[in-house]
Amino acid sequence: MTSRLSSLRSQLALAAQELPRLLERGFERAPLLPGSLYTLRRKCGKSNCRCTRGELHESTVLSYRGQGQPRNISPAPEQIDALRRMTTDYRRVRQARAEFVRWQRKVLALLDAMEAARVALGEAEFQKKGSPAVKSRSRSPRR
Ligand SMILES: [Zn+2]
Repeated sequence: MTSRLSSLRSQLALAAQELPRLLERGFERAPLLPGSLYTLRRKCGKSNCRCTRGELHESTVLSYRGQGQPRNISPAPEQIDALRRMTTDYRRVRQARAEFVRWQRKVLALLDAMEAARVALGEAEFQKKGSPAVKSRSRSPRR
């Protein structure tokens, strides 16, 4: 039981070392945008256009899923770099959050297992001493 406890303790120590890295993104300040950029390829409908020969028109579209319904927006070309930065950062923040949730579950499982192991130790120790029957405590008089 003690070796199990010490194995759990070293696992907890390792998990604790992961925490600063897991929280790094939490300290960032850059603006985020919940969405993603994708390239739309399409035909314009003009009968003599190059797109009728397979050279489709490409445009960058922002799929934005902020408040309310998801929307597709055609950003101005000069906005695209900033949008790419904000949407990429947003994705990374979400990934970091998911990783933190997994870490939290792992740590909680370790703490619970350690608690159980220590309770088992306590019970073993308690029983070793041949626990005398506990007298039911009479109420102490008030005053
Ligand atoms: Zn066209």
